[in-house]
Order: sequence, then structure tokens, then C-alpha cells
Amino acid sequence: MTMLSEIKTFSKPLIANLNKLGLYNVQALLLHLPLRYIDETHLVAVRDLRVGEAAQVEGEVVHAEVSYKPRKTLIVRLEDASGQLTLRFLHFYPSQISALKVGNKLRVYGEVRSGFFGYEMVHPTCKAVGESTCVAETLTPVYPTVAGLTQGTLRKAISIVLKQNVLDETLPANTYQQFHFPSFSSSLQALHNPPPHVDLQALENKATPEWQRLAFDELLAQQLSMRKHYARRRSVDAPQLTASKKLVSTLLKSLPFALTQAQQKVALEIESDLTQPHPMQRLLQGDVGSGKTIVACMAALQAIESGWQVAFMAPTEILAEQHYQKMLTWLTPLNIQIAWLTGSQSKKDREFSMHAIANGGAQLIVGTHALFQEAVQFKKLGLAIIDEQHRFGVQQRLALRQKGQPEPHQLMMTATPIPRTLSMSYYADLDVSIIDELPPGRTPIVTKLVSDARRDEILQRVRESCALGHQAYWVCPLIEESEALQLATANDTYALMQNEFPELQIGLIHGRMKAVEKQAMMAAFSSGDLQLLVATTVIEVGVDVPKASLMVIEHAERMGLSQLHQLRGRVGRGATKSTCILLYQNKLSETARARLKVIYESNDGFSIAQADLNLRGPGEFLGVRQSGVPMLKIADLNRDLHLLEAAKAIADKLLKDYPDAVDRHLDRWMGGVSQLVKV
Ligand code: ADP
Ligand code: MG
Repeated sequence: MTMLSEIKTFSKPLIANLNKLGLYNVQALLLHLPLRYIDETHLVAVRDLRVGEAAQVEGEVVHAEVSYKPRKTLIVRLEDASGQLTLRFLHFYPSQISALKVGNKLRVYGEVRSGFFGYEMVHPTCKAVGESTCVAETLTPVYPTVAGLTQGTLRKAISIVLKQNVLDETLPANTYQQFHFPSFSSSLQALHNPPPHVDLQALENKATPEWQRLAFDELLAQQLSMRKHYARRRSVDAPQLTASKKLVSTLLKSLPFALTQAQQKVALEIESDLTQPHPMQRLLQGDVGSGKTIVACMAALQAIESGWQVAFMAPTEILAEQHYQKMLTWLTPLNIQIAWLTGSQSKKDREFSMHAIANGGAQLIVGTHALFQEAVQFKKLGLAIIDEQHRFGVQQRLALRQKGQPEPHQLMMTATPIPRTLSMSYYADLDVSIIDELPPGRTPIVTKLVSDARRDEILQRVRESCALGHQAYWVCPLIEESEALQLATANDTYALMQNEFPELQIGLIHGRMKAVEKQAMMAAFSSGDLQLLVATTVIEVGVDVPKASLMVIEHAERMGLSQLHQLRGRVGRGATKSTCILLYQNKLSETARARLKVIYESNDGFSIAQADLNLRGPGEFLGVRQSGVPMLKIADLNRDLHLLEAAKAIADKLLKDYPDAVDRHLDRWMGGVSQLVKV
């Protein structure tokens, strides 16, 4: 494919700017599609303007003045045969004043508003009109761009490559037979330069056949690449781990509870994967408190019994520490050697652990990101368990995978359920197991939405609850902009609470504390030495203290839905009826209200995740900035669900019958990205 640097008419700075947009070759530039369009294909008479709609008007300047009340404004009146239109400019240069002086003929484009003197436009684009000025033949595209690259330059660059290159179809024609799509190249033509009188609404909603054609191609590329990843896995060797005969049943007998049906079902799925000679990559989903840890532990025992090591990794030290403690309780009686590895360990402890990992003395290694590091050498890694997988990036998971020879199995866990559309698309290369049942005897958490004005009542509630021997969390407001401010708020809240409840033992935990301090604090809360724990969102993930039955979350409106659901899941883990109180500041916006309503009305992680996805879009949801997954640019999973389903239905056949066409298609749509190894 022609590189942009090979195009003679493109200057160096232009190429540099296009590179900044991630565009390196002609194909990618042609697929750099407009965000929206401007209709300059016809002129509208002032009389026919409609408020709220954008229009192009031509006329003569009959009045121009700079007014200073209420603020400095350039006011221009433009007249055509049917009436007058006011133009307002709040920021302007002297050159604009001369371009807009009385007697000049102008063509302006902008959104029409209703003003004091009739129709007006604020900051319209203006062009001087000469003898030969004619209206545009096609709608004018507006592209995503970067500073230093104007729309005009970008349009010109794209129109040059559009003229010089015709991109062929990548896939056989019957791929598209159920749709009546235009060809690839005519779709591109039409999207870069739509003819006049198209339905602008449909165009901007990407609902025209041309957009749909490209959305389908994009979804197809995603399906194909996912399946290739999937197939790659089937061709790679992994340790075959025989089902455990002793350890698992000994462990299960020692537990004070029996597994739920759902836990048994997923445990079998995992067990069977691990007996395969190819690496498992399975995502274990289960709402907070559904009991994923024991299932992971059973998988670990299967590997250990077969003579392999297991790495068990958590995204925070608190969580890793909890897993470590739990594994010690569960597995020490079985004589399993467990090592602990984190960044905050003393050098001596660390070296001790590393040694045991390298010589195989450690059978199970629990830790944080520290496990990824190069220096950590496993003797015989057979299984990597990754808790809260969405907190880790692709590279980190990949690094862990490369620590075993042959490739270790991977079990990823998440309490953030993946909505169906996402599991059909972005997660299509993983196998998924779902724990869809909570252990018995849990009373559902009661959630209350309370205005901050009623804080006193809530404090009273905390007092009473702790007096009864229960424990409570008080979660400080999230302050994303500044970590220093976040810390200050946590300290203030802690001081306030100490003042308010002199009779209680109160702890404080936040992200800036040293790992050992955090661990000590969690241990004190776990053991019941502390009754109230003031915390930042560091406790969001996985922390398990069954006696805590009350949680107050301040400024709940600032937090994401899944985050709130995770936080709330820290209570309701024991037999006591639990309550989560969401305190909000008055004057909630409509959207904030709608979001809190979701949390208030639903205890179901799946519907919350779906609502979160709808409100924030997949990028935020997947945490893509860190995960490195190529995002869909054209297709929208909700709008284009039918296309996704069609792409899913046809992908296998294409891979089987037209492997070369598939490679061409992937090259076109995934470009350099397809080199990225997806985990
Ligand atoms: P999560 O899925 O959120 O990681 P955990 O694995 O931490 O949940 O389990 C939550 C709590 O429930 C733990 O205290 C765990 O020991 C307990 N638990 C797990 N499975 C069962 C079960 N089948 N019956 C009763 N309690 C269980
Ligand atoms: Mg957990």
C-alpha cells in the first residue's frame, strides 16, 4: 500500500501532521472519515431561514459596528433580496472588521438563532463573494484533525488521494449478499463528498447505506481478527493439567460452606480447559461476592497437583494481601508452599521470594504487578490467575504469558460484567464462564439515596449500627483532578469522624499510604479492632470483611456506576442485613440523577454495566487507553447490532474459504494494529 511519504504533492509538514492523526498510508487516509458535514450546496433566502438549522446565506453588508454593551461585539447586518440577517462576533481581529465592512458581498454559513432584531448567526464562517463564486457541488466534510492541520488542507489531501486511488473490494461479493450495499470505493466517494440533497440527519447518524457498508466491514474485520487470535491459541502448546484427584476434594471438605451450583458449573468448565494441550484464556465473570476466589483456588490446585506453579495476581496491594491471607488459610493445611511478591517488600523478602519462584520451592505465588517484572523467573509456570482483569493492560498480561514455557493457561476474573454486545465483539476471542448466583444466606443490600442536607441522620445511623457491634465504611468523595486534594479530603473526613464519634475506634485508608500501612489498617478492620473505616475508593476492589454491613458514600454522583456497584459490594458479605447510603449534593443534574437511579433501583451487576456502557461508551468501559485494544471507529454496537450479528455469522466461512481475502481485509481495517498481540 502506498505510503503517504511517497505522494509527491504532499509536503513534509503535511505528512507529519497526518502521521499525528495516526495516518501513514493511503488506505488509512481514505478511511479517515468525516465527523459531520456542512451543507454549502445551496443558498437560503433570509426569509426562508429556520431557527435551529444551519444554512448558507449570501448578501451585502448594510451595517457594521463594534458595540461595547454588554460586551465588546462586532455586529454586522447582511441583506439579501428577502430580508436582513444579523451576524455577531464576540472575538474578532481588525482584519475581520475590514472584511465585513458596508458594501461587501458575503457568503456566510452558520446556525440560525432568533435574536432581538430577527434572525441572527453567532460566529458564522464568512467568505467574500466574487463574480465567479459558485455554490459547492457536494456537502463539505468536517474531519477529525490536529492543531496545525486546517480542514481545508486536510480536505484537499483527501480529495487528491481519492482521485488517484481506487480501492478494490477485499472480500468476495457474496459476503454482502443479504444487504444492498454500494461498493467500497463508491461508499468512500459518497462519504467524503456526499451529493446535495442527501438526508443530512441519516448521514450524520451513520445510517446511510454507505456508512452501514463500512460499519459492516469494520465489524467483520474485528470478528476475523478475534477468530484468528482464537485459532492461534488452538495451535500453541500449553501444559496439560490432569484433573485434581486429591487436593481439590480435601480443600472443599475443609470449607465451612458448600459450593453453589453456579460455582460448580464454572469450576468444571475451567477444569476441563486445563486438561487441554492448548492455553486456556477464560474470563470468569461473577458479581461482587459471588465467590470467584474459591473457584480460582481450585484451578490453582489442579495445576499444583500436576506439578506446575501458579501465579495469582491482583491489581492492588490490599487485594493481593487479602488473597494471600486467604490462600494461607485454605492451602497451608494442604502443605502448599505459598510465596508473596509485591513492589513494596523489603529487598531481603523479595529476594527470598524470587529465589523460591525460580527454584520451584514456591508452588503458588500471590502478588501485584511486581509479578510481571523481567527479573521474576518462574521454574515452571502453568497457570496465571488475574483478578480484576480490566485493571491490567494488554502488555502486562502478555508479559505474564511469556513467563512460561510452554505458554501458561490464563484465568481472568472480573466483577464488572461484560454486556452482551461487548462480549460478542471486543471479548470475542475469550471463553467466558459466568457465576450467576450468590451464595445462600446473603440478604440483598438496601441502597438509599440521601441528600447531603440530611447528613446528621446518617451520622446517627452510623453511631447506632456500630453500637450494635456492626462495622461501617465511610467513603470519601472522589476528587479526580488532584491527588493532593483527594488526600486532604480524606484527612478532613477522618478528623471530622473522630470528632463526631469519640467512642469509636476509627481507621483511615487511602491510596498514598505505604502498602504495609494499608495492610495493617485492613487487618485491624478485618479483625474488628476498628469499627469505622474512613476510606477513599482504594477499597473499591475485592476487599472482603463480612462483618461490615453499612457503607456511606459521599458525593456518590461523582462516581461511575460500575465503581459504585463495586464499592457497594464491600458490604452485604455476611449474614447481617446491609445498607449502602449514597449521599449526594443537592442540585443534581438530570444525567446524574438518572445514573444514581440505576444504582438505586438495581442490584444486578449486568444491568448496571449495560447502563454504564450506554452512558459512557465502550472506550471508557473497557479502559481502552490502557488496554490497547483497537476501537471501533464507525460501527456502534447498539445501532449496528444486526450488522454485528451478520458479521459473526459469516466470519468462520470467510476464514475457511478465503484466507487471502481475509488477510487483505484485516490489513485494510486493522492496518499496523493487527500486529498488536491481543491477550
Ligand atoms: P468475589 O467473587 O467478589 O471475589 P469472594 O470470592 O471474595 O467473592 O467471596 C466472597 C465471600 O463469600 C468470601 O468470604 C467467600 O469465602 C464466601 N463464599 C464463597 N463461596 C461461598 C459459598 N458457596 N457459600 C458461602 N460463602 C461463600
Ligand atoms: Mg474478588
